[in-house]
Amino acid sequence: MTPVIRAVIDTSALRHNLARVREVAPRSRVMAVIKANAYGHGSVPTAVALAGADGFAVARLEEGMALRAAGLRQRILLLEGVFGPDQLRQAAHHDFDVMVHEPEQVLLLETWRGDKPFRTWVKIDTGMNRLGFRPEQVAPVLARLQACEAVLKPLTLVTHLANADDRDDAGTRAQLEAFERLTAGMPGERSIANSAGTLGWDAARADWVRPGLMLYGVSPFADATAAELGLRPAMTLETRVIAVKEVHAGEAVGYGGAWRAARPSRLAIAAAGYGDGYPRNTRGGTAVLVNGRRAPLVGRVSMDMITIDVTDLPPVAVGDAVTLWGEGVPVEEVAKAAGTIAYELICGVSQRVHLDVR
Ligand SMILES: *Cc1c(COP(=O)(O)O)cnc(C)c1O
Repeated sequence: MTPVIRAVIDTSALRHNLARVREVAPRSRVMAVIKANAYGHGSVPTAVALAGADGFAVARLEEGMALRAAGLRQRILLLEGVFGPDQLRQAAHHDFDVMVHEPEQVLLLETWRGDKPFRTWVKIDTGMNRLGFRPEQVAPVLARLQACEAVLKPLTLVTHLANADDRDDAGTRAQLEAFERLTAGMPGERSIANSAGTLGWDAARADWVRPGLMLYGVSPFADATAAELGLRPAMTLETRVIAVKEVHAGEAVGYGGAWRAARPSRLAIAAAGYGDGYPRNTRGGTAVLVNGRRAPLVGRVSMDMITIDVTDLPPVAVGDAVTLWGEGVPVEEVAKAAGTIAYELICGVSQRVHLDVR
């Protein structure tokens, strides 16, 4: 048996989670966010599984081109737009929707000579202060885009929420109000919500929702599990035991001797480490599943290996199954134990991990 680490992608979970988006936001169209290799799930297989979405959003031109190269014909939105005439030409060639959030990008459209106008999304900064036009820029920019022949009218009006994962956040209310005020009377569709906005904020659903995380079956909220939100994890990161050994009480284990056995202990070494995207700073005691049972990580995570205390489990053998996250050990829980967020873990599954799409 080859000890191999793989990320098993459950396409039925992806479809289930999309159906859940539809249930939560029945009046909205769904722009499924599949940037960053679909948060580590594989952008093409994810897009194929989510073919029922109304469109796909990616961050970068190359990500959209990979989807077109695979034959996907749905609408694809470039969330950060394009930079320079070459990229705009590519966007035209591949029929991408473009986001406009910078004056440079307005100018680019104004100087574009092509036969087909772009479906254009205009990003308005309502308080996140990352991308988008500031309130005082909105009216003049919209007027220019309205007058621009390269822009298909009406424009789609967009903002992004900084704190939607706090369901009671005053800043989110202020952002929603600012968006309402800045776009009052304008024609065109609206798009506000990411996953947290979709699940937590009625007023954010608008014409288009832009869920990412929830499609992968991960909760955007600290106070609600994915299961409580009706979501199913789409990724299971699994590997195998490559060694089993006994140590005496008092012996230290791994780099730095970071863990010392308090009793005679049986340890399983599993083929997963930070070289695979299992975070190095995951705290000792974090659960992994060995043959479906929870057991604690001990000592430091190395590049290719972790050590698990299986003293309290039924006998474990080389080749036995180890689940690092997925059903039974939510990625949210591992992320918390590593001092990070689930987004970073699922996006960070490395090249050498085989994606096993089912
Ligand atoms: C990444 C992204 C999303 C999706 O966010 P999730 O929190 O993963 O749902 C939505 N909108 C924009 C602009 C994004 O960059």
